[in-house]
Amino acid sequence: MPAIRLKRGREKPVLHRHPWIFTGAVRETQGEPQPGDVVDVLDQNGAFLARGYYNPHSQIVVRLLTWNEEAIDAAFWRRRLETSIARRQGFAQDERTTAYRLVYAESDGLPGLIVDRYGGADGHWLVVQFLALGLEPWRRTIVGLLAELLAPRGIYERSDVEVRGQEGLGGVSGLLYGEEPPPLVEILEEGLRFGVDLRQGHKTGFYLDQRENRCFVADYCAGAEVLNVFAYTGGFGVYAAQKGARRVIHLDSSADVLRLAEENMARNPSPGTEAKYVAGDAFQVLRAYRDAGRRFDVVILDPPKFAYSQRQIPSATRGYKDINMLGMALLRPGGTLATFSCSGLVNEDLFQKVLFGASVDVGREVRILRRLSQGPDHPVLLTFPEGAYLKGFICRVE
Ligand code: SAH
Repeated sequence: MPAIRLKRGREKPVLHRHPWIFTGAVRETQGEPQPGDVVDVLDQNGAFLARGYYNPHSQIVVRLLTWNEEAIDAAFWRRRLETSIARRQGFAQDERTTAYRLVYAESDGLPGLIVDRYGGADGHWLVVQFLALGLEPWRRTIVGLLAELLAPRGIYERSDVEVRGQEGLGGVSGLLYGEEPPPLVEILEEGLRFGVDLRQGHKTGFYLDQRENRCFVADYCAGAEVLNVFAYTGGFGVYAAQKGARRVIHLDSSADVLRLAEENMARNPSPGTEAKYVAGDAFQVLRAYRDAGRRFDVVILDPPKFAYSQRQIPSATRGYKDINMLGMALLRPGGTLATFSCSGLVNEDLFQKVLFGASVDVGREVRILRRLSQGPDHPVLLTFPEGAYLKGFICRVE
């Protein structure tokens, strides 16, 4: 087995079961491993520490798979997939929710692998992302196992994401097994219906990570005028309408996703809700609303990721501050701000400080009522805190 030997003193994170080896920790490479091969990771004295896949083109030179001297073969992938699927038993038994994440990469001991399930009325599809080079040799094994273990109608790949570039891989998408999904797969989430475009939708089609948060936020929406900013296909707004919102304005820069938002609102009739769809840049539209004196009872801010690297943290925090100042300014006294950041590099502490800055600058007194994070199908492994990326607050704004 080819191996990499670590520099002195660099074994501690490995012993603590952090799954990444960075290039700077490597003292030497033994046995000429090829990109994507499985290698052993050795301490400075050559003793076995762990085993994982090797990618000399990535800052993360090894992604660890195991801390035992076990074979990485089809039986290994089967065990890992079975365990990950078994962790979602609660979801499997919940008939009101048919779409959830089955495999969350490093956090499920399957580095770089995402598997989301989208259940329709007559069968379900799996959407997978292979985000690490080391997975490439195992594609067929993994797809075969998923087909066998989960009996989907089809398995669709959506590895058309930027992070693959950091692994030296291009984007790919397309059918891997079974039937092409229909243009929209109709899923259930908490008993609500959503059409999901598995081929073109964001991520694997739907923001599954916000499921529980949509419920929490909806609790503040009865009788309310709600501004759903960064609406995508309507998620938060559909829940708000079901809870009796008087009015929901869906705002997004993409007219295409707003058409789906409108369809999703229609899938879940709520006659008492007046719904509007506004295509435009959130920063500009919110500023115009503020200047025109428009006010709301609930403002939801769920922007896309602003920080992709350390270097972008300052501009990301400025963006978060701007949008949150506008959100606060648009609320009636006693209104509710539900605000999120999915930038892993902006941690909860920093995000709270940004909100503090925004509240001071707009002169509003703000209280955090609830702290939010990603749903339980996106668990955070304690040895891999990087798996925590979504954070949010429900705030009361006086
Ligand atoms: N809240 C959604 C997910 C939001 S994803 C849900 O629960 O499903 C972020 C959305 O912001 C995307 O739909 C994207 O089209 C939109 N977006 C990105 N930049 C924007 C901008 N400057 N103004 C308005 N919308 C924007």
